[in-house]
Amino acid sequence: TTPDAPVLEARDLHKSFGALVATNGLSLTVRTGQIHALIGPNGAGKSTAIAQLAGSLRPDAGEVLFSGHSVTRLDEAGRARLGLARSFQISALFPEMTALESVMLAVQAGRRHHARFWKPASADDSLLEPARQALYTLGIGHLARTRASDLAHGQRRLLEMAMALAREPRVLLLDEPMAGLGFVETRNLSAVIHALKADMGILLVEHDMDVVFRLADVVTVLVDGAVIASGPPSVIRDDPDVRRAYLSE
Ligand code: ADP
Ligand code: MG
Repeated sequence: TTPDAPVLEARDLHKSFGALVATNGLSLTVRTGQIHALIGPNGAGKSTAIAQLAGSLRPDAGEVLFSGHSVTRLDEAGRARLGLARSFQISALFPEMTALESVMLAVQAGRRHHARFWKPASADDSLLEPARQALYTLGIGHLARTRASDLAHGQRRLLEMAMALAREPRVLLLDEPMAGLGFVETRNLSAVIHALKADMGILLVEHDMDVVFRLADVVTVLVDGAVIASGPPSVIRDDPDVRRAYLSE
């Protein structure tokens, strides 16, 4: 993949829940090699945007493009197989499984046609190395044998990230990955996210503005489901509309 090539695009997405307009003509482009931050006040529609990009929520209108091809009518599993990963689905964790088994299962689920050759993830040696690698990348290699239910909150979030990464995605959608993490965990995860962008495009929803302005290559500001500004962090930080609508609230 070429750096800076568009890998995921939202084109004029619209989504309403009854009378509430959650997404109002959202367009944005996530590029390989970039961290694209999506920020905005509570209820601005950030998570709704992520859901439409991931494929768990159908837009009322508009298109989602992956590597230039429309995936608007593809469901989340179909988009995941193309290389679209979303982190932090707590429900995806099986409490009885160890961290390593959880990641092996995620690797297996990400492989095409896995159903045809299905065998238990724990019995498939080809899953072991990528899974172990993903745990080490997230700094939790030492927890490989720990059951998911015995992990601390921050460790569990890192495990979920490892599960997303192990599938070698081309785009990673992160919805508030730092939520509930301590200072050291936040710093470690920031470094991981920064390192990851070499190989993929990242869309980061994050309310910690220190993290956003340190990590992001592009910042898009959403208010009431619509983009009010988009550009490099240095420009967004000083944009008077953004300050008025959001940063200084
Ligand atoms: P953000 O992530 O920016 O805080 P959300 O995308 O979660 O915002 O929500 C945007 C708006 O859409 C909010 O007003 C929220 O209450 C509403 N909303 C989100 N999901 C649903 C849903 N499934 N049904 C009804 N309203 C929803
Ligand atoms: Mg949200």
